[in-house]
Order: sequence, then C-alpha cells, then structure tokens
Amino acid sequence: MFNWNYDFAGVALCINCVLLFFYKRNHVVPLRQHNYFSGLIYAELLMALTDILSSMALDAGNRTSLFVKYLSLSVFFSMYVGCLLLLFLYTKSLCDYHSVRQYPLFSFFYLPAGAVIGLYLSNPFTGLVYFIDPVIGYTAGPLYEIFAALTLYYSFLSLVLTAIVHKRMTKEQLLTMHVVWTIVIVGALVRLFMPEQLMVSLIMTLCTIIIFINLENPDLYWNRMTGLFNDLSFTEVIQKSMYSNKRISVICIGIKNYDEFKMSYDSVAVSLLRKEIAKAMNDIMDCQSIYYLGHGRFAILFIGDDDHLGDAEMAYDRFRRPWIFESDRGRTISVYINASVAYLPASTNITSGGQLRDVIASKLMDMARQDISGLKIIDEKAMQKQIYISRVEAILDKALELDNIEVWYQPIYDRKTGRIIAAEALSRLHDDQLGYIRPDVFIPLAEITGAITILGSRVLEKTCDFIRRQGLAEMGIEYIEVNLSPAQCRDENLAVKMLEVIESHGVSPGMINLEVTESTVEDMNQLKQQIRILHDAGVGFSLDDYGVGYSNLVKIFALPFSLVKLDKTVVWSYFNNENKILEDLLAMFQKNGLQVVAEGVETELMAEKLNELGCDFQQGFWYSEALPDKDFVRYVRDFNGNEK
Ligand code: C2E
Ligand code: CA
Ligand code: CA
Repeated sequence: MFNWNYDFAGVALCINCVLLFFYKRNHVVPLRQHNYFSGLIYAELLMALTDILSSMALDAGNRTSLFVKYLSLSVFFSMYVGCLLLLFLYTKSLCDYHSVRQYPLFSFFYLPAGAVIGLYLSNPFTGLVYFIDPVIGYTAGPLYEIFAALTLYYSFLSLVLTAIVHKRMTKEQLLTMHVVWTIVIVGALVRLFMPEQLMVSLIMTLCTIIIFINLENPDLYWNRMTGLFNDLSFTEVIQKSMYSNKRISVICIGIKNYDEFKMSYDSVAVSLLRKEIAKAMNDIMDCQSIYYLGHGRFAILFIGDDDHLGDAEMAYDRFRRPWIFESDRGRTISVYINASVAYLPASTNITSGGQLRDVIASKLMDMARQDISGLKIIDEKAMQKQIYISRVEAILDKALELDNIEVWYQPIYDRKTGRIIAAEALSRLHDDQLGYIRPDVFIPLAEITGAITILGSRVLEKTCDFIRRQGLAEMGIEYIEVNLSPAQCRDENLAVKMLEVIESHGVSPGMINLEVTESTVEDMNQLKQQIRILHDAGVGFSLDDYGVGYSNLVKIFALPFSLVKLDKTVVWSYFNNENKILEDLLAMFQKNGLQVVAEGVETELMAEKLNELGCDFQQGFWYSEALPDKDFVRYVRDFNGNEK
C-alpha cells in the first residue's frame, strides 16, 4: 500500500488556478504558442486534480468503486501525456511556425502520445500499465515505465528540434526550454521511483511557471497602461504569418512632434494619448490588434489580401481633429497631433518581422525628417530603399563597434602658393557586399540615430593620428578640415573632449579646422560656448556649404570663422552662366576678412577662372577626389614638387 502525500499535488492545483486567472485576464496576441501555453495550464490543472482524486480514491479502499479509481487514474495519466505533447508543441511553435499537419513527420509528433493515451484508457481492461489489486491496491503493470519512456521521447524530440532550428529562437527561449525539458525528465524519474510523492503535477507546474516568467508573461507582449501590444508581439505575429504564407498589410502611424509632446506633458498623459489614438483607430476600422512600436509609432496589422488604403486615409483624417482626453489629475487635455501615416499594401515582399518593423520605423522617421505629414504608400521601391537604409544602419553600427570607419582626405589647393596646403577629412564606410557607402547616405542616418557623436570623434582621432604619423605639417599641410555635425554640438562637453583628443595625439590645435554649416550656426547658444573654448585653444573654424541655406550674415560674422566654403551648387551656377553671385560673395567675404574656398572644382577652366577671380582656395575633382591616407601623401608630394 502506498502512503500518498497530497502536499505537492495540492500546491500544484493552487498555483495552476492562480496562473490561469492571471494569464486569461490579460490580452494575448493571437499566436499558436500562446494557445498551447494556455492548453498546458488547463491540462495541468486537471492533472493535479485527478492526481489527488485518484489517490484519495485509492486511500478510501473499498469505500470507493473501482470505476472511480480507474477513471481518475486514466484521466490523470492521459493529462500527463497531454502536457508532454503540449509542451513539445509549444517548443516547436517557438522555433517553427508551420502547421504540424503539413509535416510528413506528423506521425512522429502525434502518434506516440495518441498510442500511450489509448493504452491508459484501455488499461482498466488490460492492466498493462497498472492494476488495482483488491488487497494491495495500486500495483505496477508490465508497461508501467511507459510514461517515463514517453517523457524521454518528447524531451529528445524537442532537443533535436531546437538543435536543428536554434537560429530561429532567441537565447532566452533556448535556455528556458532546455531547463524545462531537463526538469520534466527529472519529474518522470521521481514518479518512477517515488510514485507516492505525487510530485509530477508540481514539477510540470514548475515548468509552466518558468515559461510564464521568461516567455509568456503578458507584460512582455503588451503595455499594461495603454492595453497595446508591443513590438515583440508585432514581430512575432508577422513572423508567424510569413511562415504560413499569409499576406500582410500594415497601416503605420507616427506622431511627428512626439518628443515635444513628451517634454510638455507627464508620462501618464503621454500614455493616455496613446490609448486615445488606439481607441480612435479601433472605432474607425475593424482592426484585430494595434501595436505600439515605441517613439510615438503605431502599427495596425491586417492579415489577408484585402486592401486597407481607405482605412489608412480615414486614420490620417482623424488627425485633423484635436485629441481630447482626461489626464489622471482630472485635467482635460486637448491637443493637435501631427501625424505621418504610411500604408504598406499586402503585395509587398517581406522577409522578416524585424525587417518590417525597421522599415516602418525608418519610413516614419524619413517622413518626420522631411516634414511630410501626409499619407504615403510604401511601394516596392520605397520598401527596397528602406531595407537598404536599415541595412546601412546595421553596417554603420558594426563599423563603429569594430572601429572600421575609414577617413579619406581631399586636397585643398591654395592660389597664393599654387600648392596643396590643406585637406578635408571625409569619412568612408565600406561593406563587403555593398562596397563603399556614400556619406550622403550614412551621415544623415548617424545624425538621427545619434551615432554621429562616436563617428565624429573617431574621424577626429584618425585625422590627428594621420597628421602626427605622416608629419603633415612638415609636408606643408597647414591644417585639415574636419566636419562637425549639428547633432555633435548638443554635447556640452564637446569642446573639452575634442581638445583632449587633439592634445593626446600631440597635434597642434591649429592643425584642425572644424567645418560647421549654417544649420549649426542657427543654434547659436549651444554652439557659441563650444566654439569659444576651441577657438581660444587655437582650433580654426570654417563655414561649410555656404549658399544652400538661408544665412543670417550678422550671426555668421559674429563667430570666429576664418574660412567660408562656397557650396558646389553656387560654384556650378556661376560656370553654367546662371548667375554671377559667386563674384559678389567673394568680394563680400574677403572685405570682411574671411578667406574663401570654392568647392566642386571639376575642370581646368573652372580652376583657372577661380584663380583669376582671386578665390583663395579650391577643392574639387579637378585636383583630386578624397584619397586614402597613403595615396593622399603621394599626391601631395607629386603636386607640390616633392621638395619639402
Ligand atoms: P561636404 O562637407 O560638402 O564634402 C564635400 C563633398 O563633395 C564630398 O562628398 C566630396 O567627395 C564631394 N566633392 C568634392 N569635390 C567634388 C567635385 O568636384 N564634384 C563633385 N560632384 N563632388 C565633389 P562626400 O565625401 O560624399 O561627403 C558628402 C558629405 O558628407 C560631406 O559634404 C559632408 O557633409 C558629409 N561628411 C562626410 N564625412 C563626414 C564626417 O566625417 N563627418 C560629418 N559630420 N560629415 C561628413
Ligand atoms: Ca564639409
Ligand atoms: Ca561642403
């Protein structure tokens, strides 16, 4: 006779009730893995219950009928097999999204569980697994170890599966499932050797808790405050739809002045606004779920071939009206929100959920940057462009991490001496597949993502290293122009950090000229202080790309610029006989004590004419493109006659 210990099964029963309550209370993304998980909780609940009931029935001896004993035991064992199967299917759904039925391996997945359940259900007649002896009670049959064998079978299958397709799983998923299956094996062994402890339900429950905490916690998938799903659910749902060959269309909404809004209101109000937007979208269209992707971006997903452009138009229309909601302090807030709306039709090719999320983010970011607050359709071309951009972003991140950014130097010619006396440092990003990526692509990107801060300091470091290593000053190079982005100037310690770099390389600060554009000058207050510190230390300043913006000349002359670089468009318009502004600009700047560099000098004719006009310096392809450091040194030696 066994002396049954109900404690473990009782605890398992309670825990499963609590788990079920909390899991079912929250929204769950419509993914197969979540269905398996809730199935698992139900099965465990029933398993713990029948574990207790059957033991009680056995304890009661002859006072309980044989039928009740067999029935509760059969249900208990079948539920155990069900749990194993669900746990296996759960593992499988994490790494593979195909419908099980499409598999030729179908029989490997379902048949063993089905056969063993059949064995348990027929056991009252066969007594193969166990039988209930009128005197001794519960007794093992010849196939008693079958459940341990089945446990090993599904554990093994799961481990093989995760080993084959581990690339589709996150590290967290892999670790969790490995731990869970190890515990399941231990549980089966305990049941085999100590059946009276009724521990198997608790052990299964332990696995469920581990999965709940690590993978199924609803807070991982949605925001409690706004009731919106997050980008993890978004990528998972897309991934699943892709694997099952379902087409997806997406309406993406980006709040354009989100950062300002966040600064003006408290975080509760921001959450309420998000909630309000989601509610309005739900009212406008029949959407299955709205995802909040962070940074004021929403995505509304539609699975299937239907066109939802009309919905996108209605969504955009809603932003013409104010958003009115009550803050938690009872204050009524009414705001107008500028939104960019992008629509991705179902025909577009998507290769992964993460990629689609990045494409949406970069499209909305693009629209915000270009101040487009309309509705745009992401067609195949736009999609390819955004894919390229997000790829470049990854390449840039990697290059910064590995310190792979190259710096090339474009010579600057001096009219007075007829020599190359300076150069502009231009960054180059190389990728094995894409070749050299143009700075026009990656610099604006780095400015948005903030990578420009690191990039800027790397360029300065490399330039200083080059100046020192090659002895550029001894070669007759008076200074190197280094570009400074507006975004870099937001760093309050920029000047100090730059001087540290320059000095640590043993370079004279006078060898560095920082190029800033008019847009940087616009933000005077931030910049003034930085410029003063750097200028006091001896660093020079040039005004870059003059002629493409709308300058405030009073502001410009108030700053210690020694050089103005006329943008190539100004130079070209002069040589295309479109206007004579170049002559006036030269005169105006020189009269005010500034020297002038003409950019984009491409022909001998241009070079000669600019000399005639008295333009101080020239830069352009006529002299040379930007060159890697060694080529630059060679070029300067050749050009300057090698006598230095
Ligand atoms: P920019 O400062 O105006 O630099 C001059 C750009 O004009 C360079 O393009 C140069 O290769 C190109 N260029 C020079 N001469 C000629 C010419 O005769 N004809 C034509 N068609 N183009 C000419 P690049 O290297 O592609 O750089 C583009 C822009 O990227 C730069 O424009 C600059 O604003 C930015 N940039 C490049 N490197 C850096 C960097 O390290 N930091 C920052 N903040 N910006 C950078
Ligand atoms: Ca420049
Ligand atoms: Ca320029």
